[in-house]
Amino acid sequence: MTREELFYRQKNVYETAGEETAAEIFAFAEGYKSYMDASKTERLAVREAVRLAEEKGFRPYAFGSKPKAGDRVYLVNRGKALILAVIGGEPLGSGANIAAAHVDAPRLDLKQVPLYEDGELAFFKTHYYGGIKKYQWLALPLALYGTVIKKDGEAVDIAVGDRPGEPQFVITDLLPHLDGDQMKKKASEFVPGESLNILAGSRPDREEGEGRVKLTVMKLLNEKYGLTEEDFLSAELSAVPALGARDLGFDRSLIGAYGHDDRVCVYAELMAVLNVEKPKRTAVCLLVDKEEIGSEGVTGMLSTSFDRFLDDLCRAQGVSLYECLANSFCLSADVCNAFDPNFPEVSEKRNNARLNYGVAIMKYTGSRGKSGSNDASAEVMGRVRRLFSAKGVVWQTGELGKVDQGGGGTVAKYAARRGIDTVDAGVPVLSMHSPFEVIAKADLYMAYKGALALYEE
Ligand code: MN
Ligand code: MN
Repeated sequence: MTREELFYRQKNVYETAGEETAAEIFAFAEGYKSYMDASKTERLAVREAVRLAEEKGFRPYAFGSKPKAGDRVYLVNRGKALILAVIGGEPLGSGANIAAAHVDAPRLDLKQVPLYEDGELAFFKTHYYGGIKKYQWLALPLALYGTVIKKDGEAVDIAVGDRPGEPQFVITDLLPHLDGDQMKKKASEFVPGESLNILAGSRPDREEGEGRVKLTVMKLLNEKYGLTEEDFLSAELSAVPALGARDLGFDRSLIGAYGHDDRVCVYAELMAVLNVEKPKRTAVCLLVDKEEIGSEGVTGMLSTSFDRFLDDLCRAQGVSLYECLANSFCLSADVCNAFDPNFPEVSEKRNNARLNYGVAIMKYTGSRGKSGSNDASAEVMGRVRRLFSAKGVVWQTGELGKVDQGGGGTVAKYAARRGIDTVDAGVPVLSMHSPFEVIAKADLYMAYKGALALYEE
């Protein structure tokens, strides 16, 4: 055998892709950028996914409805999580092909009593959601999104700051002239969580008395949305970067956006399930919430809402849910870190995923001795390898930093806990969890092709 045959060498997508594939990669990215701009929160990510699914003939699932092969259904869980399925020709006892991604992303949530005035300026108190580097959120234009349930039960949606002409918000930072004490502190300490207060107004109301700036803000919120301060008690409002998804670099091969983690995988598997026709095995696209805070909560991967849906499909066919789960296969579609030449010391070059090398399969995640990891078997890795090479999916392997550098987890272990063979597969990201993350268009496209290969298996 030749050296070429004996050695494993990863290939850059553009090394093998012809002009036609390159054009497909770039065209696919346009839809993704639109999806991102419409999906700045988990609720909006679900809403936009439903809109796209309805266009492709998906209909709301009714429990007990006994769908037939080829039927396209979706189920929204409390507006924040979504399951889409295309019923397969084979009975569910032989298992389903599942891809799971998460719609939530790190952000700043407003507290339940958020609005106050200090120094004749109005602010919102926040509590950060997910793992953020707090200093990245200072002096950054912010947009405000969310849902308020008013006293009478009426729901009001709020979205301010992303459309042209709308006001934005910001958390102020200290000027360099006066930051001597700040700069002496450790990076993990110099922005205390309780200092992430969002500037919300400065113009005093004409009415005499306490809190005149706060009164101006409250009067405006009342005019526009019918709110009183008490309504914040039953509200979910979040500040997110007021930044749209944009091409990066002269060659436009990259995309910068807030929330690639994990909406890039959401979009890839969503497009795959929307485009799969008459699959052999039932194709399931699982878009879950709360991954960034441990997959807890009624809309997270640990909730039984997925089991209830799959159980209902199984009952319609007289099949046991456990039998279906045991024969199912799951791609846990979540992003991984891309090798960053600016910070080479945190990665081990031979095993870290790289931008433009395709969808990254992570056999394991976790920290220290693979703690908290799904750690897929050789058999599962072999199955993905055969599947992807049969469909021309360019893929690579990845790991979350060098051994003992840090670590993290995904929803993979919660799929595996249900008795499903599971492996992590996702898009490599630079500046993960920052307000403006970076991905490569080629990897997004290969993640889509990978999910489609699974659904068409
Ligand atoms: Mn993620
Ligand atoms: Mn994350």
